[in-house]
Amino acid sequence: MTRLAQTAGLNDVQQEILSTVRDFVDKEIIPVATQLEHRDEYPTEIVEGLKELGLFGLMIPEEYGGLGESLLTYALCVEEIARGWMSVSGIINTHFIVAYMLKQHGTQEQKDTFLPRMALGEVRGAFSMSEPALGSDVAAITSKGVKDGAEYVLHGQKMWLTNGGTSSLVAVLCRSDEGHPEGTAPHKSMTTFLVEKEPGFGEVRPGLTIPGKIDKMGYKGVDTTELIMDGLRIPANRVLGGTTGRGFYQMMDGVEVGRVNVAARGCGVAQRAFELGVSYAQQRHTFGKPIAQHQAIQFKLAEMATKVEAAHAMMVNAARKKDSGERNDLEAGMAKYLASEYCKEVVEDAFRIHGGYGFSKEYEIERLYREAPMLLIGEGTAEIQKMIIGRRLLEEYRFQG
Ligand SMILES: Cc1cc2nc3c(=O)[nH]c(=O)nc-3n(C[C@H](O)[C@H](O)[C@H](O)COP(=O)(O)OP(=O)(O)OC[C@H]3O[C@@H](n4cnc5c(N)ncnc54)[C@H](O)[C@@H]3O)c2cc1C
Repeated sequence: MTRLAQTAGLNDVQQEILSTVRDFVDKEIIPVATQLEHRDEYPTEIVEGLKELGLFGLMIPEEYGGLGESLLTYALCVEEIARGWMSVSGIINTHFIVAYMLKQHGTQEQKDTFLPRMALGEVRGAFSMSEPALGSDVAAITSKGVKDGAEYVLHGQKMWLTNGGTSSLVAVLCRSDEGHPEGTAPHKSMTTFLVEKEPGFGEVRPGLTIPGKIDKMGYKGVDTTELIMDGLRIPANRVLGGTTGRGFYQMMDGVEVGRVNVAARGCGVAQRAFELGVSYAQQRHTFGKPIAQHQAIQFKLAEMATKVEAAHAMMVNAARKKDSGERNDLEAGMAKYLASEYCKEVVEDAFRIHGGYGFSKEYEIERLYREAPMLLIGEGTAEIQKMIIGRRLLEEYRFQG
């Protein structure tokens, strides 16, 4: 099942990493994913395996103990992992975003403190922008960090924190008016605080509570939580980059690479749905022949495979653009938008190919059917991607007349 989603031009190291990850996914993830997902059970053994493979440090520079790999390598690994179980890719995604933000924006002391332990998976990252009243409109956040001597005191409620319980380092976006007079644009008065905490639920450090897991329709196994700050005291040296007022840009930078990542997840889930569909279509007989021999089903398979190929190509293009040092917000937005929409459609078609059995929890496609919608929301909804794409197009194609 390797004909689709090939990537030209990979070097030997990339090929070896990918083949190791694919092997791990086939042997250690796919056979247990659906059972664990139905039980909403955290995949502890899989996570330990990922640590051993070095995946938590894949993009962390070698000087901090990581593998120093490119965004492309990372995205291709995520694609493989999501093919096995999307929730597992969610476990490394927020970690990757926080490590990326530290690498790009952290002070030297912050990099030295966190990156080596993040590369080993000992410190695990999560990021928190969304609040109960907002997700898309990040500039409207109300959580606040107020300076008090050598510390900041944080108050506010956050929502939808992926890995909220299992992480030990959360990058939290707050409004911080200190040094920014009344009337400062909202996105210039935000700060990312690096909040260290114990993994678990309840009051995990004074002033910080992680209530229990949110019960979700899919994307199970990985914990998604609220985060409540009530007088949480954070030392000034845990302001990301050491200067307040830069949080919005830091988070947007992180989310931009996260978008390539979500696109890669869409590609992986769509590939798995295609594999399940094409396999079932050759086993199930109706009217005296395998349903794959009915043209209507062949057309479905043709459309599914074309979408898998197109999404993969756009995702690879977006990752390569970032790796080359160029701005990639347009490509990342397009890749995320297309891959998540196509993923939903390919999963839907594979579900239909399964007939009534697709509705049974015994069949893997039932899980994929509940997982695909999350990709339409995370790291910015389809509407938000289209806003980004539209704005960038008008910049590029400014009317000269
Ligand atoms: C399982 C899960 C995990 C998540 N993990 C994280 C995480 O780790 N960290 C984090 O910070 N957040 C996380 N999120 C939050 C996620 O980023 C938000 O849900 C997402 O950004 C959408 O925000 P919202 O839910 O508030 O929807 P809203 O912003 O309220 O949007 C509602 C609807 O209106 C549309 N809309 C909004 N504004 C416009 C506009 N200007 N024009 C046209 N349409 C518009 C949206 O597209 C959507 O269809 C997670 C969410 C889920 C479901």
